[in-house]
Amino acid sequence: MKITNPASNSLIKEIEEDSLEVINKKYLLVKKGQKEWANTTLAHRVSCIKRFAELLIENKDELAKELSNEMGKPIMEALGEVGGAAVKCEYFIKESEAVLKQEQVMDDGTTKEIIAYDPLGVIANISAWNYPYLVGVNIFVPALICGNSVLYKPSEFTTMVGMSIEKYLVKAGVPANVFQAVFGLGVAGAALCDLDLDGYFFTGSYKTGKIIAQAVASKLVPVGLELGGKDPLYVTEDVTDIKEAAQSAVEGAFWNNGQSCCSVERVYVHESIHDEFIEHFKVAADSLIVGDPSDEKTQMGAITREAHLSFLADLVSDAKEKGAKVLSGGYKLDQAGNFFKPTVLINMSHKMRCMKEETFGPVIGIQKVGSDEEAVKLMNDTEYGLTSSVFTSDKARGEKILSQINSGTGYLNCCDRVSGYLPWSGRGHSGLGSTLSKHGLYAFCNPKALHIRGFK
Ligand code: NAD
Repeated sequence: MKITNPASNSLIKEIEEDSLEVINKKYLLVKKGQKEWANTTLAHRVSCIKRFAELLIENKDELAKELSNEMGKPIMEALGEVGGAAVKCEYFIKESEAVLKQEQVMDDGTTKEIIAYDPLGVIANISAWNYPYLVGVNIFVPALICGNSVLYKPSEFTTMVGMSIEKYLVKAGVPANVFQAVFGLGVAGAALCDLDLDGYFFTGSYKTGKIIAQAVASKLVPVGLELGGKDPLYVTEDVTDIKEAAQSAVEGAFWNNGQSCCSVERVYVHESIHDEFIEHFKVAADSLIVGDPSDEKTQMGAITREAHLSFLADLVSDAKEKGAKVLSGGYKLDQAGNFFKPTVLINMSHKMRCMKEETFGPVIGIQKVGSDEEAVKLMNDTEYGLTSSVFTSDKARGEKILSQINSGTGYLNCCDRVSGYLPWSGRGHSGLGSTLSKHGLYAFCNPKALHIRGFK
């Protein structure tokens, strides 16, 4: 398997993919280790995660450099991701014991009724490359805390990051027979689906998520899917500061090169402020510094997958053919590496692919709307349902709009943000189940009902 640097397309390293035999050995190892791990105290397991978070911070420079080299994000964003993963662990470190403790919910004088939690067993965590640390900790951290063992399949585009995650979890005290990384392309993920595991947790595209859900359906074990998005942002005419809203929208659209599941993927602006909004939006987009990811000043690095460049160009051509105007960018930069100019399209409509398909890159369409009703209709005109945002100075109006949007997360005067304290869940093609918060702990447990009689 060739690991390349997307900023130069040069080879970093070649590694051998895990064979089916190796994957099976790893499975038998973690299956054996799981029971002993589940018998350790919850406090011990939480302490291992606490140490893991500390190790991320202690080694953040080395880890961020590796991440930036392998997937092309700017070094400052890579540092933010490694630090952010440690912050995300905080919720689980602070709250797991309270959430997972046995709870007596009823006592009728003769029988006490108690809710307890058992781990699922051995779970698969098949992961994506865009935020390998941030999306990884959503799954393997609570899974380990709950007493599961984990077969972790990092994306083939962040294999080295996957190796580092394994190294630091083991250094933090998670036994090697409880956490094993499996390396390879999609076939390695498919091999995990053939094993007799107790849960499947996937982060990636709708297309692969559906294949996995179908492949494991007959096992009747929990399946969690964190999939793509086509997240809308609506700016009303009463917004407090048009320039600030445009700046936030630019950050939401172009952070991580637009390669975030919760990137702003389409913008709707009330017609009475549309022209002023797009002026500010263009200035902010044009001022983004694109280039060498290792330079601390760089704001947009390289697109991770070379093959995605032609997909982005196709979206732009399709929109132009159907009447869109290119306000900025629209092309790959004429230099080595996968660099695509931040692209802003206006005069958009839902006939264009760019307003319907997940772009997952630095291409954004802006569409004019005449009313909240029209905005809501367009925002809901998607098969996805991950996040949506509204910018307004009227709280009640913003909340009313968000209540009408079918998405797992709603943002008022902000966008593109995730918190360990809140559930992270997608609707429709954006996924199934929830991670983070207490829901993201319960996802990795089987609840057990205890009826206890004969004791005080
Ligand atoms: P992908 O679906 O191409 O791959 C994800 C993982 O699945 C990789 O590890 C890959 O090797 C593996 N895989 C591929 N084929 C498989 C198969 N048949 N069986 C089992 N495993 C297989 O996705 P990607 O390109 O890595 O990630 C981008 C997508 O992920 C985008 O759609 C993005 O929105 C989404 N995403 C969602 C979230 C979220 O929290 N909702 C977070 C990050 C990314």
